[in-house]
Amino acid sequence: MKKITRTDQQWREQLTNQQYRVLRESGTERAFTGKYVDTEEDGTYVCAGCRNELFSSETKYHSGSGWPSFWDVASRGNVELREDNSHGMRRVEVICAKCHGHLGHVFDDGPQNKTGLRYCINSAALDFEPK
Ligand code: FE
Repeated sequence: MKKITRTDQQWREQLTNQQYRVLRESGTERAFTGKYVDTEEDGTYVCAGCRNELFSSETKYHSGSGWPSFWDVASRGNVELREDNSHGMRRVEVICAKCHGHLGHVFDDGPQNKTGLRYCINSAALDFEPK
């Protein structure tokens, strides 16, 4: 995966405040406030920072968490995982492999008949491209 790098100033110009807060400052949008929580349309979710293809609507499901939830990634190499011990929790952070933007976290309480994983992703980190 070819990485892209931009200066902080460039990111601020390109992204909305909310996108910047999530992608570049690892912020979390409030539950049930994101624009893709309930989306069911067919299509692809790409990174709002760099258009990297991240998740397919085919793996999106209603977790009840208040954030868009997926049980798999679109392509293995397109996201990276890393340990996140902030806020007194042990979590696994999900980041975009191309721009290293923060997307959300992955938990192991996903659908048991699929992967058992729940990728809990901020709407603000995503853009939806309908099929
Ligand atoms: Fe990205």
